[in-house]
Amino acid sequence: MRERYCRVCGGWHQLDQWPHDCLPAQNPAQSHLPAPHFVSDSIDIRSMHDGQHYTSKARLRSEYRAAGVIEIGNEKPQPIDKPKTDRMAIRNELRRVYAEYNA
Ligand SMILES: [Zn+2]
Repeated sequence: MRERYCRVCGGWHQLDQWPHDCLPAQNPAQSHLPAPHFVSDSIDIRSMHDGQHYTSKARLRSEYRAAGVIEIGNEKPQPIDKPKTDRMAIRNELRRVYAEYNA
């Protein structure tokens, strides 16, 4: 049988007889599912549109689509157009006031 190096105890174990104590620690944030990230269709929500109770995101959204309702909340914010500072105008105004004060 094939043996593999064990990072937990530093020894060598048969792949088909791996000691339970040497299994790597499970990340508590990670589920037991084989997929790294799984988005479920299940939801427990009351529609803000028709007031009905829904247990499927797809059915809720199809109801929204059929009614022509737009679901909002996850769109990216648009970049804000900041006005450019007119540094030359500020400098000229400061020079004018300074000259006027010292005159
Ligand atoms: Zn081990």
